[in-house]
Amino acid sequence: MYEIAIIGAGPAGASAALFTAKAGKKTVVIDSDKGMTKRAWFENYYGIEEISGPQLIDIGIKQFQKFGAEYKQAAATAIEKTADGLQVNLDSGETVSAKHVILASGIHVDLAEKLGLTTKPGTEPRIKTIVDVDSQGKTNVEGVWAAGTITGVSVHAVITAGDGAKVAINVISELNGERYVDHDLLK
Ligand SMILES: Cc1cc2nc3c(=O)[nH]c(=O)nc-3n(C[C@H](O)[C@H](O)[C@H](O)COP(=O)(O)OP(=O)(O)OC[C@H]3O[C@@H](n4cnc5c(N)ncnc54)[C@H](O)[C@@H]3O)c2cc1C
Repeated sequence: MYEIAIIGAGPAGASAALFTAKAGKKTVVIDSDKGMTKRAWFENYYGIEEISGPQLIDIGIKQFQKFGAEYKQAAATAIEKTADGLQVNLDSGETVSAKHVILASGIHVDLAEKLGLTTKPGTEPRIKTIVDVDSQGKTNVEGVWAAGTITGVSVHAVITAGDGAKVAINVISELNGERYVDHDLLK
């Protein structure tokens, strides 16, 4: 059983995984390689002069893997409630059990709708439907959180990455029972 399963390895999901894995939480990231970020070229990502979408995605995956998060290339086909948490079904036939799920699937809301998450019309350009979350990133289903484009934040990588980090910190804080902060000292 994983503590956290993250669906999506775009900026929102990978950034969330970096925080949860670095905090020592058993994390798995599932991605179907259908994100929008791979089509982009970035010159507005703070701290990076310019980078291609594919490079940004590759670095993000390496960053969370460095801290022990597992990466599965597969499509999640359903999220189900179980007696002791949540189960994510993959198109490979595999199932993944986790206490918490962070849905960071970009423009893809099919899983959310299948699970019965509350959705609403999006307000950002070209984003039709979003998942309704509270200020923490919690959905209406216990243990299921959402981050990034799917929650209706401004469709910019630095913002979706920040939102993924925010939601991850909230999940970690809930698991720890106290507010969590991840600050490293200058080496
Ligand atoms: C052409 C283009 C140019 C852009 N240019 C810029 C720019 O210059 N600057 C900027 O800041 N932003 C730009 N953006 C927007 C930027 O890419 C997004 O705002 C941001 O990266 C979205 O991050 P995300 O993690 O929310 O979604 P995504 O990056 O779309 O990631 C979602 C991930 O979820 C995965 N997924 C979805 N459903 C499933 C499933 N069922 N199972 C498993 N995995 C699943 C997908 O494979 C994907 O990897 C551009 C976008 C496009 C399309």
